[in-house]
Amino acid sequence: MENAWNKYSTRKKNEVFKFAEGYRRFISECKTERECVKKGIEIAEKHGFRNVEDYLKEDKTLKAGDKVYLNNKGKDLALFVIGKQPMENGMNILGAHIDSPRIDWKQHPFYEDHDIALADTHYYGGIKSYQWVTLPLALHGVVCKKDGTTVNIVIGEDEEGPVVGISDLLIHLSRDQMQKPASKVIEGEDLNVTLGSIPLKDEEKDAIKANILKLIKDKYDVEEDDFISAEIEVVPAGQAKHYGLDSSMIMGYGQDDRVCAYTSLMAICEIENPEKTVSCMLVDKEEVGSIGATGMQSYFYENIVAEILELTDGYDYLKFRRCLANSKMLSSDVSAAYDPNYPGVNEMKNTCFFGGGIVINKYVGSGGKSGSNDANPEFIAEIRAAWDKNKITWQTAEIGKVNQGGGGTIAYIMAKYNMQVIDSGVGVQNMHAPWEVTSKADIFEAKNAYVAFCREMK
Ligand code: MN
Ligand code: MN
Repeated sequence: MENAWNKYSTRKKNEVFKFAEGYRRFISECKTERECVKKGIEIAEKHGFRNVEDYLKEDKTLKAGDKVYLNNKGKDLALFVIGKQPMENGMNILGAHIDSPRIDWKQHPFYEDHDIALADTHYYGGIKSYQWVTLPLALHGVVCKKDGTTVNIVIGEDEEGPVVGISDLLIHLSRDQMQKPASKVIEGEDLNVTLGSIPLKDEEKDAIKANILKLIKDKYDVEEDDFISAEIEVVPAGQAKHYGLDSSMIMGYGQDDRVCAYTSLMAICEIENPEKTVSCMLVDKEEVGSIGATGMQSYFYENIVAEILELTDGYDYLKFRRCLANSKMLSSDVSAAYDPNYPGVNEMKNTCFFGGGIVINKYVGSGGKSGSNDANPEFIAEIRAAWDKNKITWQTAEIGKVNQGGGGTIAYIMAKYNMQVIDSGVGVQNMHAPWEVTSKADIFEAKNAYVAFCREMK
């Protein structure tokens, strides 16, 4: 395997670390899809992107070189840099998801049990429940009030402030628990978040819960009932860290798939005056099947492409279908990086490694490629040529041995337009665990690979 670290000069290595530091800060701050969209817009605007709504309202047109973004319901971000060629020639598209596995509060979360106040939850995405107990956890989310206002909530990220958490049974009394299979050790319904233990004075019933609700009311001016229209996500508390004695890796929450989202976003921010229109989409709901108005199966992306076509060449149904069918896309999601502690799940010729650079997966899926996209080799050849020309370190992989398991992505959804799509991304250890690990070299190579893709694809 080619190891990207070997090719870096001291100066280049500094550049790799500097880029990774921007990423480390991004994932430390952005732990929900909404926070990613908000920060993503901030970054995009610094690079000259403008809200497409301004163009639509003012009935303006877009010309080659213009940069616009769409904020879809605060949970998806689609960006475009208009190319010199007509839209019907197709776009070069980067896509990644910004939702991550976590634990959501239920609509009626609050209860009290023997002088402890807790919040009831329903987990989101595929998690090993036993990994989420006895950790400092934070609450990130929104509460939407009947008066139409939205209150942002972040609790647990202040160095001096409190965190919350989920308890686990002490080892001394775990004889029965230790006999259970891992899927049963912590039951889904037992992922209850501890909130407090001081009773509210002169309150007779559920005084601890009442005290917690008072604290929330005092700070955020929301009532218990307002949590019916809220999204409160329980996530690991604290900053992402440099990982390893050589600081060559990043340990942080939500790297599936924010490692691909951040690198895709930074790549489109580097694109100026492209030949073909370049687009980047950061989407919600991948971890639960890309459903809902903000998931990839929604028409939001198709709709915004139609709007962009109207603002550039003028909308025409046939041109619109041609634009989608002639597009090429890197559907970026994380891959399973080789883990020396668990070599048995991999087939070594078709596995990705830390330092091996960006990964392309011809297919993912499980049980005979089921549910995968399976990219065309003609397209793969074009990508190989572009990346080799730009001296990108890249590798190919499958997710584990045949019949070992598998996974899905958004690739097959975009392929429905008859566009060329391939899964690509960054290798991750501890995927879906509270603290996932990636290689700084792979992060850097991914960003450069995305830039090369946007510039070189014909
Ligand atoms: Mn993913
Ligand atoms: Mn995932």
